[in-house]
Amino acid sequence: MTTLMEMAHAGIVTKEIKSVAAKEGISADTVRKLLAQGLVVIPKNINSKSQPIGIGKMMQTKINANIGTSRDYVDIDAEVEKALAAEKYGADTIMDLSTGGDLDLIRRRILDSVSVPVGSVPIYQAAGNGIENMTSDDMFNAVRKHAENGIDFVTIHAGVTLSSFERLKNSDRILDVVSRGGAFTISWMKQNSRENPFYSEYDYLLEMAKEYDLTISLGDGMRPGCINDASDRAKFEEFIILGELVKRARAAGVQTIVEGPGHVPVDEIGLSVTAMKHLTGNAPIYLLGPLVTDIAPGYDHITAAIGGTVAGMYGADFLCMTTPAEHLALPSVEDIKEGTIVTRIAAHAADLTKEGVKEKARAHDREMAMARRDLDWQKQFRNAIDPEKAKEIHARSKNVETCSMCGELCSIKIMREVMKK
Ligand code: SF4
Repeated sequence: MTTLMEMAHAGIVTKEIKSVAAKEGISADTVRKLLAQGLVVIPKNINSKSQPIGIGKMMQTKINANIGTSRDYVDIDAEVEKALAAEKYGADTIMDLSTGGDLDLIRRRILDSVSVPVGSVPIYQAAGNGIENMTSDDMFNAVRKHAENGIDFVTIHAGVTLSSFERLKNSDRILDVVSRGGAFTISWMKQNSRENPFYSEYDYLLEMAKEYDLTISLGDGMRPGCINDASDRAKFEEFIILGELVKRARAAGVQTIVEGPGHVPVDEIGLSVTAMKHLTGNAPIYLLGPLVTDIAPGYDHITAAIGGTVAGMYGADFLCMTTPAEHLALPSVEDIKEGTIVTRIAAHAADLTKEGVKEKARAHDREMAMARRDLDWQKQFRNAIDPEKAKEIHARSKNVETCSMCGELCSIKIMREVMKK
């Protein structure tokens, strides 16, 4: 099986590359070169019907929406509704993180419902009968099953190793490990006194990924879960390991993304993203946040959007949506909608600063500015990230020409008349 990355290496411009180039407004040969170098990924399993998207250098910042059941709450229709809401409000990809109910059925329903690429975390299914009963075969078989189903990218916590576990024991962390996959892996290694199979048998994982052209998202099992734990040794050690794994994947023709933290104060985000890029050979970076403070439960979509904007400015390529329910409960459909829109705003704000994409992003803002100058409300709604909300709020204004904020004292209207004279 020749992968998309290998074809790009061989100079072949595939239909996926052409499609991404058209969406991004750059040449197909530029996309091909970036893909061949591993600086851009197009997650596209051979069994998938998803529309290709590009993540990485010179690409607009992409966003992912996490959905999925928990052991406490299983409603497949609700998860499908969340997937559709995420797609409608601008998610570029969706990850099914289900851990409760019939996981195969849920995955199938989500894959059948959306046209964006879908990701998953196979170890959640492998550990279905308890971490104590999970075998390394279960771990690889879950990856194969998800790949056969048409999942486009999988999170694999291959950077969580016995040595990182030792480092963790000697750290000053408050929250140790907050990544679910990271915690499963550490617990398994401790119970079995064995190395993480995704690390020790990484070549086998790459062979499997090649078979399906599955993109590997190297999970950040050691990501800091609070501001106190940001930027410590455990995190940077994992980045070093992930950098080595990226190199091996590239040599095998397998596309990789690298996941990153977590909870990071604003003044350390630049360091974090720059170090990740440096240590991973400029792999596409996928961030879970970063949340810039721990003290705003109920508003963590905002704390993550602040961090995501700053991270994007420093080169993060892919932002994972955070919802108002983060740290509190399984998100509702409304939480998914709000989280997706707020993350979309962060991605756009980052794009206004990014070389190669800022011209297009700024043109959009110019359109909005001109619509405001002209008091053209319909054009403002068309250019809004959330037109429904903008319309709903403006409908409160009685004055149809301006809005109820200043009414007759509208500075735009006054200046329009002044400038005519
Ligand atoms: S009324 Fe005030 S807030 Fe509304 S459009 Fe005019 S200047 Fe802007």
